[in-house]
Order: sequence, then structure tokens, then C-alpha cells
Amino acid sequence: MDNPARDDILRGMALDCDILIVGGGLNGPCLALALSQAGLTSTVIDALPAETRDADTFDGRSYALALASARLLQAIGIWDAVKANAQPMHEIKASDGRAGEGPSPFFLHFERDELEEGPMGYMLEDRFLRQALLARMESDPNVTHLPRAKVVAQDISGPASVTLEDGRVLTGQLLVGADGRQSGTGARAGIKRLGWDYGQTALVCSLAHDLPHHGIAHQFFMPAGPLAILPLPGNRCSIVWSETHARAAEINALDDGAYLDILRPRFGDFLGDIRLAGKRFTYPLNLTISERFV
Ligand SMILES: Cc1cc2nc3c(=O)[nH]c(=O)nc-3n(C[C@H](O)[C@H](O)[C@H](O)COP(=O)(O)OP(=O)(O)OC[C@H]3O[C@@H](n4cnc5c(N)ncnc54)[C@H](O)[C@@H]3O)c2cc1C
Repeated sequence: MDNPARDDILRGMALDCDILIVGGGLNGPCLALALSQAGLTSTVIDALPAETRDADTFDGRSYALALASARLLQAIGIWDAVKANAQPMHEIKASDGRAGEGPSPFFLHFERDELEEGPMGYMLEDRFLRQALLARMESDPNVTHLPRAKVVAQDISGPASVTLEDGRVLTGQLLVGADGRQSGTGARAGIKRLGWDYGQTALVCSLAHDLPHHGIAHQFFMPAGPLAILPLPGNRCSIVWSETHARAAEINALDDGAYLDILRPRFGDFLGDIRLAGKRFTYPLNLTISERFV
């Protein structure tokens, strides 16, 4: 829409970039790289140091990437850097179950033959995706990456501007909030959110197992919450194991051996013996969603 007054302001100012992006997690860098292909410059600002986000041990989660997400990573030049570490997902099985009883004989089954092309999606560990995004941002001349920089204020009455904790002010034509589920950018812009606590915490880790998983993802719906078993390259999988907050805290406080003793009857023996293949993580689960979408 024409806005001559605003255009005059923008013409009179040397802006730092076209688009200011708060948040250098997943969505911020993906957007910056996509905008770069359209010739737009952006500044990606993240509160955490780059070394923290680049570390193998930063975040234990693994992502189930739908085919559309894999295509997006291809389009922004990330896929070649991560594909060797991406596990194709050929089947998904969902059933209910109880610890020690194994999964129910009745289950939902989705398989790749239902699609015209390729696998149903891919499993990819956060560390590989995050490292590839960081490297790509550093080599893209249209992207300025500002790690260790916390946004504390913003103004969108004229050209967009943000103020960093150290007092620096950055300007752009548009401000994007990609700062996660407790988005300060959204709160400062008055975007109201709805949400509630699920009363559950996800226990997350990678496991090594004796038998091959054949690219099959499993979701067991247990009385306390779901247990997702997601295939990773090799004889490895990622689990997302939901328990009530109190029970998850108890389990997480146990040593590795006792943790696995509780997991084994829930997991079952269809992949042979299981062992931890990395650090253990916990994530509280809650719903948060904007009240309105435009
Ligand atoms: C265990 C687990 C498994 C998951 N599995 C999947 C999955 O299989 N598939 C899937 O699609 N999704 C999955 N998700 C969800 C997915 O992780 C999130 O949707 C995704 O990380 C959101 O990305 P984002 O870039 O919006 O935010 P984030 O990744 O949360 O990044 C936000 C960034 O903003 C920065 N930031 C915040 N405030 C400021 C500030 N004031 N100034 C500067 N920087 C700031 C933070 O430092 C952070 O780096 C999973 C989540 C969990 C917990």
C-alpha cells in the first residue's frame, strides 16, 4: 500500500538492512537465507553466543522433517550439508501401549508407498541443522549475523528499529520476530497469545540399539503420555518420552543405568538391547499460539 510519508522517511535514512530478524534459532536463519535469494539483506540477531549454538551438545532434539521442509532446506542451500546425516523415514506406526506389555496389536500405519516420491520425511539431529545454518549465514553476503546480542526494545512507528542490551540501535524496513515460543518481539508488538501447560515434560535422548530400525518411526501412546521412537542414521534412534512434570524430574535425576531400567519396559525389545548414545535433555511441553492470524 502507498505510504508517501513513510517512503520519504525511508529514503532519507541509511538503514542497516532491509529486514531485521530477531532470533537465530531455526526460523530466523532459514528466512534470512531465503530472503537473500530475492536480493534482500537481513540482520539476524541472537542472544546466545555462536559457539554455544554451534556446539554438538547444545540441544539434544532431532527434527522430523516433512518433505516440504526438506525441499525448503534444498532451496536455501542447506540440504547438501545435512543430507548425509538425515535418516529417511519410510514408515510411521502409532499404537497405544503400557509399560511391560508391549504395543497394542492395533495400530495406525503410514508408509512411503502411499506417496509418489521418496520417503515420508527425514529425521535430522538439531546439531547438524544448526551448524549448517550458522555456516551458510556466515558465507552469505546478504546476511549479517549478530550473535551474543539481546534485543530489549523495538520501534515500528517509522522504519523498524531494535535496541540491543548494549545500547546499539539497528534499523531496517521490516522487523521479524523469530525469537521462539516466548517471543519478546511479539509481546512488545502487542500480539496476544493463548496457551496452556500440558502438565508434561519430554525426556529426550539418543539411543544406540542392536537391531536395525529399517527407517520406521514409532509412537506409543502410554497412559502418562506418548513415547516417540524416531530413527537416526545407523542403529540409533532419538526418543521423546513424555511423563508428568514430577515423574519426569524424578526419572531425570536418576543415573543413566536407572534411567534405562525405567525406559526398557516402555520401549520394548523390538530393537534388541538399548544404550544411551549422547546426553539426556528435558523440555517442558506447553501450547502457545497467537490469538489471531493475518
Ligand atoms: C524435544 C523437541 C522435539 C521437537 N521436534 C520437532 C520436530 O520433530 N519437528 C518440528 O518441526 N519441530 C520440532 N520441535 C519444535 C521446534 O524445535 C521449534 O518449532 C523450533 O525450534 C522453533 O524455531 P524458532 O527459530 O522459531 O525458535 P527457536 O529455535 O526457539 O529460536 C529462538 C531464538 O531466539 C533467540 N532469542 C530469544 N529472545 C531473544 C532476544 N530478546 N534477543 C535476541 N535473541 C533472542 C534465542 O536465543 C533462540 O536462539 C521440537 C521441539 C522439542 C522441544
